Amino acid sequence: RKFVYDFSEGNKDLKDLLGGKGANLAEMTNLGLPVPPGFTITTEACKAYLDSGEAPAALRDQVSEHLAGLENRMGKKLGQADDPLLVSVRSGAKFSMPGMMDTVLNIGLSDESVQGLAAQSGDERFAWDSYRRLIQMFGDTVLGIDGERFAETLDETKSARGATTDVELTADDLKELVGKFKAIVSEETGRDFPQDPREQMDLAVRAVFDSWNGSRARLYRRQERIPHDLGTAVNICSMVFGNLGPDSGTGVAFTRDPASGQQGVYGDYLQNAQGEDVVAGIRNTVPLADLEQLDKASYDQLMQIMETLENHYRDLCDIEFTIERGKLWMLQTRVGKRTAAAAFRIATQLVDQGLIDEAEALQRVNGTQLAQLMFPRFDSNGGVKDAEQIGWGIAASPGAAVGKAVFDSYTAIKWSRSGEKVILIRRETNPDDLDGMLAAEGILTSRGGKTSHAAVVARGMGKTCVCGAEELEVDTKRRCLKTPGGKVVEEGDVVSIDGSTGKVYAGEVPVVPSPVVEYFEGRMHAGADDADELVKAVHRIMAYADRVRRLRVRANADNAEDAARARRFGAQGIGLCRTEHMFLGERRELVERLILADTEDERERALGALLPLQQGDFIELFESMDGLPVTVRLLDPPLHEFLPDITELSVRVALAESRKDANENDLRLLQAVHRLHEQNPMLGLRGVRLGLVIPGLFTMQIRAIAEAAAARKAGGGDPRAEIMIPLVGTVQELELVREEAEQVIAEVEREHNVELGLTLGTMIELPRAALTAGQIAECADFFSFGTNDLTQTVWAFSRDDVEASFFTAYLEKGIFGVSPFETIDKDGVGSLVRSAAEAGRATRPDLKLGVCGEHGGDPESVHFFHEVGLDYVSCSPFRIPVARLEAGRAAA
Ligand code: PEP
Ligand code: MG
Repeated sequence: RKFVYDFSEGNKDLKDLLGGKGANLAEMTNLGLPVPPGFTITTEACKAYLDSGEAPAALRDQVSEHLAGLENRMGKKLGQADDPLLVSVRSGAKFSMPGMMDTVLNIGLSDESVQGLAAQSGDERFAWDSYRRLIQMFGDTVLGIDGERFAETLDETKSARGATTDVELTADDLKELVGKFKAIVSEETGRDFPQDPREQMDLAVRAVFDSWNGSRARLYRRQERIPHDLGTAVNICSMVFGNLGPDSGTGVAFTRDPASGQQGVYGDYLQNAQGEDVVAGIRNTVPLADLEQLDKASYDQLMQIMETLENHYRDLCDIEFTIERGKLWMLQTRVGKRTAAAAFRIATQLVDQGLIDEAEALQRVNGTQLAQLMFPRFDSNGGVKDAEQIGWGIAASPGAAVGKAVFDSYTAIKWSRSGEKVILIRRETNPDDLDGMLAAEGILTSRGGKTSHAAVVARGMGKTCVCGAEELEVDTKRRCLKTPGGKVVEEGDVVSIDGSTGKVYAGEVPVVPSPVVEYFEGRMHAGADDADELVKAVHRIMAYADRVRRLRVRANADNAEDAARARRFGAQGIGLCRTEHMFLGERRELVERLILADTEDERERALGALLPLQQGDFIELFESMDGLPVTVRLLDPPLHEFLPDITELSVRVALAESRKDANENDLRLLQAVHRLHEQNPMLGLRGVRLGLVIPGLFTMQIRAIAEAAAARKAGGGDPRAEIMIPLVGTVQELELVREEAEQVIAEVEREHNVELGLTLGTMIELPRAALTAGQIAECADFFSFGTNDLTQTVWAFSRDDVEASFFTAYLEKGIFGVSPFETIDKDGVGSLVRSAAEAGRATRPDLKLGVCGEHGGDPESVHFFHEVGLDYVSCSPFRIPVARLEAGRAAA
């Protein structure tokens, strides 16, 4: 098998094999851009290594062959004593995993070849600086030595020399430092720093392979739902040097602003530095625009390359480059990460530029991003003006976050577990902070630019982040933050950070709704001259989605207010009105009377009292959804939910009895509570079972629906009610309810002399219903999949308990990447949905199919429901725009 590809042999579509970085290096090479020559070891080699614990035999030979080719081209050998070829070894998986995987630069330097490099470059300082970097990076990432040991030693040397940055260290200082670093290696590993260049390279490759299974990489993959079996590629690239003096340097660039999507020159540049210095935020960078003054020729060339890349990739690209003595080299490019707002703006800009079409624009955004944009932000008129601004940094990831200041990840996790909202404040973050960042509301750092670890990772997580707030001094030892004005924020003090403006405030700043929500609410118009650019972009993307989607989107709503909001957000009806929500509050007592009724007469009176109330509710609901379907589900939950808690009531009655003043009603209530008590109420007397066991209950509800529809019709309305029966397991249950329903409806129609056009269908939320869907369809006008209960019953997971009990363990063990209550379990629950849909339609080709479980608003699940051919999804009002967008993306 071919395990090694020269850069000139690959292309951007080979990401599975060459990883993202390798595929893009190949693509740039083939575009004729200045990429230093090199080759890529495939993900297959990595997988083979991880499976067997050993690199495949063919790999070594193939690497030797490609290395020889590279040496020929460069006219020097790896680590050659008088003029060494040096290479970088960098990981590159299919999906970029920021900060997770490791890079080693300057492979090939040894005690001997460092002299050669010094002689060849005419720069002794540079040679020794490169060597100390090799030992430092190699020690840390390949040999597993704590990076702090090197960093501290470097700091000591700097302060001993009175230097503030490493550039001020002389060749002699660096020589001494190399000695110290080598001593650290011997001390920590029991062996000397390897002097054989090929051994250095092989060890580095192996370390990259191993890092695929590092715990941080695994955590990141779980969160991002990246499969664990992809493996990483390894790129071996001839070194170019940004640390050869002031006419050299290294930088990162974006073809547009990854935070706002605005076009322009965005990036950071660091003179006389090597790659990792920029990303690590160790020295402060200058804006990329300043490069024009420093090196106009390279700047112009870079601008041109950026344009080439944007047109070629037809998307925002991010780029790493190095300038070696005035010569520009491209070290990496990829389609760049971006904030949610930027994603929407860039997608529409690219349509306007004619680079992509509408269908493609839909693929450039997603529902998760839209959901992010619907978060509230700080009040720019009121609250923020009065708030005390204590600092200002780079707006790295948008949103408004308020919480207590914490200065280490451990505290962030601990406090957030106990329910506190926290802001994680660090000088800069590193991969060890991942858990803390996840636990925090937002992240604030005092160092690093838009491409720093904190910024990149927070954007990926959708967390608010302000980075590089330089004038703020973060003191992690004393756990406080100091402003130049002398104000001190201690651990536990509340701070507010604005990831959209970069501003940092002391205390709690009030938050306001997002403009995107204002737009969906109809309070902001995309057509207005001064409309927010983001709102305009969202408006256009939603229009594309609505134009192409096949799935209709309905709302789960049970009151007129939710229904009205849902309609503003684009709902095309109500897919689930849970009538039990209409029996809460003061009305609970009426249900209690129904349950306690001993005689037919008492029961009739209790039902009689409920009827007009229900009817009124339905009239309001049908009015707010006039002309659109409204699925009303008959009572579902176990009756005991309407009764007092068994323990409380027992105590009350016992106390009263001991005082000899027990009240008759309480005694009856207690009896009823005992009678209705169930070990497994979710598997008990609920749903259709209630309707069949309590005479008159469903009749009352059906009558209320029919009467409400008749009243709306009489008033000139267009009610489109659908009656839905929950928890059906067999067609017989449905037949009984249908008989009853047809009678009542016919009665009401006769009384009012109207045709109501009511339909009657069922939820499919039990495995037996799904398995016998073909029979059930004979008696149902529609199916609505209740994927909450279906997930509960297929997995035998109690939906009310699992999240708090063992789900974290399951997620940590990777048994599933996301809770099956959140995203549909396609293989299990999903396959029942698919087969039930097919069986139902086989019986009744015009059977209407929908879903009303929580999955109806989950992006990935929406795609699945599209694929299995459902007619609509129904979700909570706030998720309707997300469902519309995803339904469009699924169809585009
Ligand atoms: C369901 O089970 O998916 C459903 C929508 O019903 P509920 O959540 O009310 O049980
Ligand atoms: Mg249910």
